[in-house]
Amino acid sequence: MSSVRRNKFKVVIVTGVPGVGKTTVLSLAQRKANERGLKLKVLNFGDYMLENAVKKGLLSNRDQIRYLSFRGQLELQAAAATAMVEEAGRELSERDFLMVDTHAVVKTPLGYLPGLPSHVITILKPDMIVLVEADPKEIAARQQRDSTRYRSDFGGEEGVREIIEMSRYAAMASAVEVGSLVTIIRNAEGKAGEAAEQLINMISKL
Ligand code: ATP
Ligand code: AMP
Ligand code: MG
Repeated sequence: MSSVRRNKFKVVIVTGVPGVGKTTVLSLAQRKANERGLKLKVLNFGDYMLENAVKKGLLSNRDQIRYLSFRGQLELQAAAATAMVEEAGRELSERDFLMVDTHAVVKTPLGYLPGLPSHVITILKPDMIVLVEADPKEIAARQQRDSTRYRSDFGGEEGVREIIEMSRYAAMASAVEVGSLVTIIRNAEGKAGEAAEQLINMISKL
């Protein structure tokens, strides 16, 4: 038997600075993939953390998760990763893709929390970790324009630049731990469709 540990289905983790457009690109990618006969199950890591945190009466809003206690966030991460893989395992076959919408780092008041530490990455066992990137100035502008979310604590253009840098280090470290590809995809201004296209082209060759 192979000593390479994988999940039965393919796993692609999509990361990037808050507001860069992960959720937008994944939603477009899912639609385009369907048209090509590829099955993508897109799950948002924050949804799973939020559901448990709400059940525990800790908060009511996804932008409060990064303000929870450090150890509390570690517990929520572990539970989220386990639940996602279980759910995907009930639906997906070898040919299908679990796409995880998440973060390589989370900026918390005490410091950068790795989004894919050992207790998460060894459960997800991704084939590919994608870093969605864009010009820091454009990301800061997207954060400001989007009134559906609270993103004013990321430090503007300079803060975004630092999160991009930390995310690259973190993604690579997680990739080394389980053996994953790390792929950068640019989500240029007004071109989310092209980013989605590029994402599908990449994963379809896995
Ligand atoms: P978070 O990590 O906080 O969930 P995200 O990376 O999922 O953020 P989105 O919610 O997808 O980001 O997008 C943030 C905002 O940027 C939205 O208003 C979205 O419409 C816009 N946006 C996404 N992609 C682009 C693009 N290529 N050009 C311009 N605006 C974009
Ligand atoms: P999102 O909608 O992607 O911004 O997710 C909502 C929130 O969930 C994020 O702002 C983080 O606080 C939290 N979150 C998402 N993914 C992770 C992760 N892998 N590790 C820790 N926290 C995460
Ligand atoms: Mg999102």
